[in-house]
Amino acid sequence: MFDPVSVAKCDSYSIEDVRPALKEVLDNIGGLEFVKPGMKVGIKANLITALEPGKAGTTHPALLRELSILLTDLGAEVVIGDSPGELYNQAVLDRVYRVCGLTDMVKELSGERKVRLNDDFSISNAVFPEAESIKTFIYTGWLDKVDAIIDFCKLKTHAMMGFSCAVKNMFGTVPGTTKPEYHMRFPEERAFANMMVDLNEYFKPVLYVVDAVDGMEGNGPTMGDKRHVGALLASKRPYALDMACADIIGMGLSDCAILGAAYERGLGPKTVAEVDIVGRVSLSDVKIPDFHRATSHQSITFEGEGIGWKIAAWAVKTVFNARPQVKAAECISCKKCYETCPAKAITMVPYTKKVNGTEKEITIPSIDRSKCIKCFCCQEYCLVGAMKVQENPIGKFIKGLQKS
Ligand code: SF4
Ligand code: SF4
Repeated sequence: MFDPVSVAKCDSYSIEDVRPALKEVLDNIGGLEFVKPGMKVGIKANLITALEPGKAGTTHPALLRELSILLTDLGAEVVIGDSPGELYNQAVLDRVYRVCGLTDMVKELSGERKVRLNDDFSISNAVFPEAESIKTFIYTGWLDKVDAIIDFCKLKTHAMMGFSCAVKNMFGTVPGTTKPEYHMRFPEERAFANMMVDLNEYFKPVLYVVDAVDGMEGNGPTMGDKRHVGALLASKRPYALDMACADIIGMGLSDCAILGAAYERGLGPKTVAEVDIVGRVSLSDVKIPDFHRATSHQSITFEGEGIGWKIAAWAVKTVFNARPQVKAAECISCKKCYETCPAKAITMVPYTKKVNGTEKEITIPSIDRSKCIKCFCCQEYCLVGAMKVQENPIGKFIKGLQKS
């Protein structure tokens, strides 16, 4: 049996709703029993980029505030941190903390309590022979200086991985600009998913909490739409928890390579029926049957022996799988996609854009399809939503057949 998953209803981010809901979801699993006075606890939030809390792309400050209060009431010191997909330094993090609503929140608490935002930007090296994918890697050194890690993630759709939740959140342990390198090291979806599992097995957070009060649907993980779910979830391990969260938004094992990787390694369940839900709230109480997915990211599997099959598989994958596509009219020429692309598949090319009735010369991204590894970093880091995931109708049809 897998670690129990606790669910509590939480209607809004007001203190009146957050306080009892967080207490309930943690009490159901004895979530803070590990805390000892004087202990330093690191909360690994999801601060993917500088997004205001109302955009539903980052862990909400009201929840981080309340968890910090509970921890410091037990005598712990709290450090909140993450590494967004940009340069990992004070200037970038100051902006991210401020926009994500954490600077003021921590300032208010730190008068009376030992709560702070991470300002240690050192890098550490890991050797992890037991890993499936990533046996050596670098990570954000602040995690070495805490006694326990809590993963406080956000429930969101994700173009490459289907959805982003507890397991995926630990990718933020990899320093920002190194993330694209790791996409190149593990371009295949399953190897990438195994890397996520490896990171969780290496850091072994003592507790996972999911902010599913407002989730993100559609074009996640940064430019999707806010969707009210009204729930908090928690567990001491991430795999059954992710399966429960997937179920809330109408997904399952076949929709997310991370769930598949965890199941194959004996760490996670195959179906939600194997998940032990504790507390007075059931998954069906908070389920959102029409939660909009990210445009399908998943590879069409097309396997067989011999050169003929291999050529056919290459042709099918290349032609029919979903791919990134810029919407030129929405592009503001910020070059973020160009700078982020791990495969160096993007060049900026001239384009004439009409702005307020006048023509303006800008550059927009052009993608070399032969180099593109379909990691969708360009879509993830385009903060105006100009980079879309375009699904081929025939590919969609084939994937539908493969699932049925
Ligand atoms: S073009 Fe986009 S999806 Fe393709 S490799 Fe570059 S970042 Fe990844
Ligand atoms: S597609 Fe998005 S990220 Fe790329 S240049 Fe245009 S606005 Fe910037």
